[in-house]
Amino acid sequence: RVKEKWAVTRTKHPPTSLALQHFDATYSVQLGQLWPSVRAALLSERKYGALLNHFSHDAVLADLEAQGCRDFLSDTATETQPCSEQKPEVATEEESVSMKKCDSDSQQLAPLQLSPNIKCLVFPRGDITRFKPARPDMYGLLGYYLMDAASVLPCLALDVQEGHNVLDLCAAPGGKTLALLQSQAIGFLCVNDASVSRMLRLRKVLHSYVPKPLLTDEKLRITSFDGTKWGEIERNTFDRVLVDVPCSTDRHSLMEDDNNIFSKSRTGERRKLPELQLELLLAGIEAACPGGEILYSTCTLSQIQNLGVVEQAVYLARENHGIQLQVVDLRPLTHMFRKTFHFAPDLPLGEMVIPHLAANFGPIYMCKLRRLT
Ligand code: SAM
Repeated sequence: RVKEKWAVTRTKHPPTSLALQHFDATYSVQLGQLWPSVRAALLSERKYGALLNHFSHDAVLADLEAQGCRDFLSDTATETQPCSEQKPEVATEEESVSMKKCDSDSQQLAPLQLSPNIKCLVFPRGDITRFKPARPDMYGLLGYYLMDAASVLPCLALDVQEGHNVLDLCAAPGGKTLALLQSQAIGFLCVNDASVSRMLRLRKVLHSYVPKPLLTDEKLRITSFDGTKWGEIERNTFDRVLVDVPCSTDRHSLMEDDNNIFSKSRTGERRKLPELQLELLLAGIEAACPGGEILYSTCTLSQIQNLGVVEQAVYLARENHGIQLQVVDLRPLTHMFRKTFHFAPDLPLGEMVIPHLAANFGPIYMCKLRRLT
């Protein structure tokens, strides 16, 4: 028997173990008694969703439904429910720092109007069947894109309306860009990512899913700038801005030693993540027009990278740029999809899908801001 080389040369503390140690220390405090079940889910096989490609000519929906999937977007709980707690709509001076929930009167949660063109199919709760790879139609367009189904939520929360000018600031490899394009409502889309190699992947994705006439210069601009500098390029411009920042990618960090942000050589980069995230969010806020909306999202459970970044951005936008922001309540959205995803209870700011063994999606954190000035 040949002894495997890695058994001799393998590092004593692989990045995945370092990530687990770090998460055990921080998330056991942050999530309390929820942590053991979230931990078990994070260490188990994740679940995917199939984002249906509206531009494909094949009868993909019927095919997937025949396999036992359902579109989680059309299978929502439509009833409204009284709710005694309401998150702040307007961030006042104190709220923009502490963001505490205010005690308002009971309120009905109105169901949202979602684009009928966005469809994402999932297998039922507890069913861990894997999707087959998507096949090309007669024009070479693939029928669906596999992604964490919870990643569709930030795109829905962005609520793109007909003719909107949209910026996707950290777009590669393009899952959320594709979900945004499915709405077919965007007037002009600007897609950016600092990584040239990841942008190549995004271009490939677009060409595999979107017909060429929709990828012209009049409809789409693809750039590879440092997003933190966006304010120097274009300010007060976009109706909607998606800021899907680089983060500690909790699931990947626990499962893959390759390209892992917890590897010793990347400690500096990891520690600087909140700073980079804050700069990106501030750039996104500046890029939005007054009245425009910004959606901040991550795929980490980390409070420092989620809530901490949003709190600081709201404060600095006001102090340094004179921009007043309103935090938009996303509970109508989480209420609609509570049968498909597990959401963290009682977050003071934003919403978060937390992994669960029966619905192993996420983590996805999202917080929506509206520019008042
Ligand atoms: N939105 C993408 C999707 O749904 O497929 C995933 C984005 S990923 C979470 C974060 C991205 O931020 C990475 O592709 C990374 O290259 C990019 N990024 C990192 N630093 C950046 C910067 N300074 N400006 C713009 N993009 C940056």
